[in-house]
Amino acid sequence: MTIYYCNTRKHALNLFSVLVLFLMSWSIVNGQEKIRFKTVVIDPGHGGKDSGAQGSKANEKDIVLNVALKLGEYINEHLPEVKVVYTRDKDVFIPLDRRAEIANENKADLFISIHANYISKPSVYGAETFVLGNHRTNEQLEVAKQENSVILYEEDYSVKYEGFDPNSSESYIMFQLMQFAFLDQSQNLAGIVQDQFTNRVGRKNRGVKQAGFLVLRKTSMPSILVELGFLSNKVEEKFMISEEGQTYLASALFRSVRDYKTQFELNNGIEEVKKKEKVTYRVQVASSPKKLSDNARVYSQFPNVWEYIENNKFKYTTGETSDYNEILKIQDDVRTKIADAFVVAFLGEERISLDKAQTITK
Ligand SMILES: [Zn+2]
Repeated sequence: MTIYYCNTRKHALNLFSVLVLFLMSWSIVNGQEKIRFKTVVIDPGHGGKDSGAQGSKANEKDIVLNVALKLGEYINEHLPEVKVVYTRDKDVFIPLDRRAEIANENKADLFISIHANYISKPSVYGAETFVLGNHRTNEQLEVAKQENSVILYEEDYSVKYEGFDPNSSESYIMFQLMQFAFLDQSQNLAGIVQDQFTNRVGRKNRGVKQAGFLVLRKTSMPSILVELGFLSNKVEEKFMISEEGQTYLASALFRSVRDYKTQFELNNGIEEVKKKEKVTYRVQVASSPKKLSDNARVYSQFPNVWEYIENNKFKYTTGETSDYNEILKIQDDVRTKIADAFVVAFLGEERISLDKAQTITK
């Protein structure tokens, strides 16, 4: 009798531990499923009394604010589930350490600091993206020095930044292992951004680099600092000042965030991300090196006009269906007005070939 009782208890205990183990693993799996990409902090560099780099016509602080706000708008429009937080959304001065704090307080999944470059050689141009790390060349160190020197606008900077001297090369040794945990993810995103800038916006690719940026130092999430281009180069300055240039740059950053988010969620076991991206067909009716205005003819001529950017051009489509036969009918209709209109295919918002579209939907 006693033995029987003991056995039952033992048995019950075993069952209990199995149950605990089961619940633990269940919650881990379930917890993983819930790791979604929720928040992005967008950090337009400089602001207020700190105008950043100065070109012949424009200041860095204004260009980067415009691009940042456009990027935020695209995220709000196309990824409404993602919360956008700006470190500044107007022309105000924000200390560097406060920018990192905003990202940490909001538990951001990503921190993107947006800047424009300046160098005494006007012939230098191109876009580059930095992650926090050790500079490999003096040129990289110079970019960090230039961006970090804004702390001199802060009265108590030597206390706040623990004696950091933005102009002394020795100060940069302290950056060695900082942000190491996020280096892979940060570099991954930086690579996506540079690809987008190069392949979709036609920027010169100056690559993914590392240097000691104070603004990235205390962020506890993957973080990048983007240098959109050089204000010291006339052509690039003109591009960055223009509405089209800012739209191109912001949409490239948007696509980078979107692609990073997809990868991030797939890595965390969120399979539905894949399913969301379905193949759609549209009929392309116009293509222009400049963005068409809202009262362009194409908008009154066709219903459901949708704009996308590819190879440095704004392209316009009408109709939208996942049925290939249906789009062929729409194409016939459209061709009565525009003879050379043609069908284009998309996976999500990414243009793909008709062959690929048909392979996917088979
Ligand atoms: Zn800057």
